[in-house]
Amino acid sequence: MRPALLDPLFAPAATLPGVGPKYAKLIDRLLDRPQGARVVDVLFHLPYATIDRRARPKIVEATRDAIATIEVRVVEHRPPPSPRSKAPYKVLVEDDTGDVELVFFLANFDWIKKRLPLGATRWVSGKLELWDGRLQMVHPDRVMDAEELAKMPAVEPVYGLTEGLFPSTISKAALAALARLPKLPEWIDETNLRRLQAIGFGEALGVLHRPEAPADIDPAGRAMVRLAYDELLANQLALLMIRARMRSVAGRANIAEGRIARRILDALPFALTGAQTQALADIRADLAEPKRMLRLLQGDVGSGKTIVALLAMADMVEAGRQAALMAPTEILARQHFERMRPLAEAAGLRIALTTGRDKAAERRQTSAALAAGEIDIVVGTHALFQESVVFRDLGLAVVDEQHRFGVHQRLALTGKGEAVDLLVMTATPIPRTLVLAYFGDMDVSALREKPPGRKPIDTRVLPLERLEEVVAGVGRAIAAGQRAYWICPLVEESEELDVAAAEARAEALRHYFGDAIGLVHGRMKGPDKDAAMDRFQRGETKVLVATTVVEVGVDVPEATIMVVEHAERFGLAQLHQLRGRVGRGSARSSCLLLYRAPLGEAARARLEILRESEDGFRIAEEDLRLRGEGEVLGVRQAGAPGFRVARLEVHGKLLSLARDQAAAALERSANLSGEANRALRLLLYLFERDEAARLMEAG
Ligand code: ADP
Ligand code: MG
Repeated sequence: MRPALLDPLFAPAATLPGVGPKYAKLIDRLLDRPQGARVVDVLFHLPYATIDRRARPKIVEATRDAIATIEVRVVEHRPPPSPRSKAPYKVLVEDDTGDVELVFFLANFDWIKKRLPLGATRWVSGKLELWDGRLQMVHPDRVMDAEELAKMPAVEPVYGLTEGLFPSTISKAALAALARLPKLPEWIDETNLRRLQAIGFGEALGVLHRPEAPADIDPAGRAMVRLAYDELLANQLALLMIRARMRSVAGRANIAEGRIARRILDALPFALTGAQTQALADIRADLAEPKRMLRLLQGDVGSGKTIVALLAMADMVEAGRQAALMAPTEILARQHFERMRPLAEAAGLRIALTTGRDKAAERRQTSAALAAGEIDIVVGTHALFQESVVFRDLGLAVVDEQHRFGVHQRLALTGKGEAVDLLVMTATPIPRTLVLAYFGDMDVSALREKPPGRKPIDTRVLPLERLEEVVAGVGRAIAAGQRAYWICPLVEESEELDVAAAEARAEALRHYFGDAIGLVHGRMKGPDKDAAMDRFQRGETKVLVATTVVEVGVDVPEATIMVVEHAERFGLAQLHQLRGRVGRGSARSSCLLLYRAPLGEAARARLEILRESEDGFRIAEEDLRLRGEGEVLGVRQAGAPGFRVARLEVHGKLLSLARDQAAAALERSANLSGEANRALRLLLYLFERDEAARLMEAG
């Protein structure tokens, strides 16, 4: 149970002053909390920038194109010549050193007259620009009298917003959320407090929501570092507790000679690469040891992880137990199943598929067969977690494309057997420094070498204006019997708009290619999605227009062209994943990254790296480096996936400190009991490391 002390933070955000039902909905969307944002979510929605209004120059000293707050007298009103004119309403103001024109387009005359009466002294704050030799301030951000000036924050935090939400609504909510923060005990140990020169948790939140200087919200500044450390500490505590729990049950030695695996290898039209052989050897050694396996299999898209997993599962079956493979989506689960089935069956393995879409009767049948041990290998989605799914003796859980699953989901699957070995496969090559944050200390096998015969993918970066040429190129490719993916823009925070964009593009392409166009997007029902994928896989459609649902794992060797519209909106890792969908067959493939000009510097750098390299590990490192140089992806200064605050490219160095404190605390008390650990328990609840919290309660 969450300590009552934290209750005020977990109350609905709608209870904050000024929020109300309408804004509450927008805040839910902004903070990605469909179940309803809470006060704590608002508190952790940190500003990503500031507006500095501290400069109070005389007009003559003011820096051009910078924000200034100036004290002026109102000299003259210059309304447009006629009320219907499009010309702006101007107001001339001055001080002893010069004058400035305040410029209002589509102005509300009454408001201007009331706020800026002739002869009055006012403070105006905004950007001073030079236009046609005159100093101007277009739409001052603030027009104030002395009293209002006193209330203006000199440095204003700027928050990520969503359409319909005003900056003032969020600022006000954030300040109100701060006021609800209870006094919390210190959870950082003394050594690290000193090392980090850490300020208090509440103090840090205060600094961020009420900055006094732009540097206050710097990701590497003291306030952010404090919160990032807290989050990493919670994360490391949770990972260590889970790991301890997993290791607390002795493993079983699973002895296999590789007889079944040999049959699969014999049925394969290729030999394993050196990297695959090595990874398989690592896994086999783990399985044979009476210790539970916790291994990460990293490998770029197309590096051949699936076959390694199948061979490992074959060994487990030979050892007399069952294996399960869990994929993040229905499409991927089906694809794994379809591809593994012939090989598995050739080797005499009984393999089944179970997904959320099974009919109740089918599901009962599969469950019964699993419980009776009549199925050796089951492939599925998170439907595998359902309580009704019971194994006779599950020995190996393989989780594909892990970062989509939470830690507790991994746990749930390994909980379905005795001392279940765990193999996590990820296609996002995670830099070594980050493995610790996401996986705790799992053992790692990496497939750096690609299967032979892959041709390099010709990657080009083009402005959207060259769409016609791209369409022509796609036309030539499909005339030659090839296929193409066409990925549609990612529209920030709106799946609806994603879908609309994809539908519009599909419609436009139908003018050229008629029925050869297929469409698949995130809002489609499962069976429709599969049907669309199937038609593309079988070649009934030649161009598949898609939102990013094709991102992971889908395998269509005939696809040779990957078009990504608005490539500048995608992250580096994501573009690399998308590109990995082509270049799987024998024909030469190309990837066309279309951008809307002008291209920002960071986006240009990203696209350039893709053009240069196909090495996922290098791309991952570069991604981290680029982001470390201060790029803010999107308007939110978002933490790394799964983190609210911590950005590993900035705060990665804190990991080992957090790790040490977590380990020491758990050494003293494995379930963080006792008064000495009260603060750490609060921390886990505060950062919602629920799976670990449950372990604490289980004792
Ligand atoms: P991943 O899951 O790592 O993205 P896959 O397991 O889907 O990669 O493999 C990609 C493709 O490469 C598949 O068509 C697979 O049959 C093929 N493949 C795997 N290993 C080899 C190999 N050693 N030699 C040739 N082709 C291979
Ligand atoms: Mg795969």
